[in-house]
Amino acid sequence: MDRDGVVNIERGTFTWKKEDFVLVKGIVKLTKKAQNAGYKLVIITNQSGIARGLYGHDEVEVLHQYMCMLFEKEGVSLDLIYYCPHHPDFSGKCFCRKPQSLMIERAAARLGVDTSLSFMLGDKSRDLVAGRQAGCRTVGIGEEPLKNADFQFRFPDELIPFL
Ligand SMILES: [Mg+2]
Ligand SMILES: [Zn+2]
Repeated sequence: MDRDGVVNIERGTFTWKKEDFVLVKGIVKLTKKAQNAGYKLVIITNQSGIARGLYGHDEVEVLHQYMCMLFEKEGVSLDLIYYCPHHPDFSGKCFCRKPQSLMIERAAARLGVDTSLSFMLGDKSRDLVAGRQAGCRTVGIGEEPLKNADFQFRFPDELIPFL
């Protein structure tokens, strides 16, 4: 799953502070069900704020520890988090930034999961392009229907019946 807009509420700006990090309604319920059903929980996020000089790797790591703690409190363990710190305009082209699928493929290889049995959740079309390219089923989250969505829901927990 994508992070901003799927796990935490999209604020329309960059998120690197704990006080800006508020969980999306239904994400704990979904991830708990998915974990119990045997799915691995993976976050795949573009963090171009690093390339832009807005924040650093340390801030991202601290925020991710906080995110993991919020989930742990609910009995949910995130299995893996990958982020792309790049942006073509600031750090040159990379191979990981979504809509490229490299981060998803790395995660699948590391965890030994079959992407055709996996879902990629995103609030932007580029998340779903990456997911589809990696062979996942794609889930758009939010009011606006996304291109390349196999499923489209307002809130993440609406996926539960399809797990
Ligand atoms: Mg997003
Ligand atoms: Zn990258």
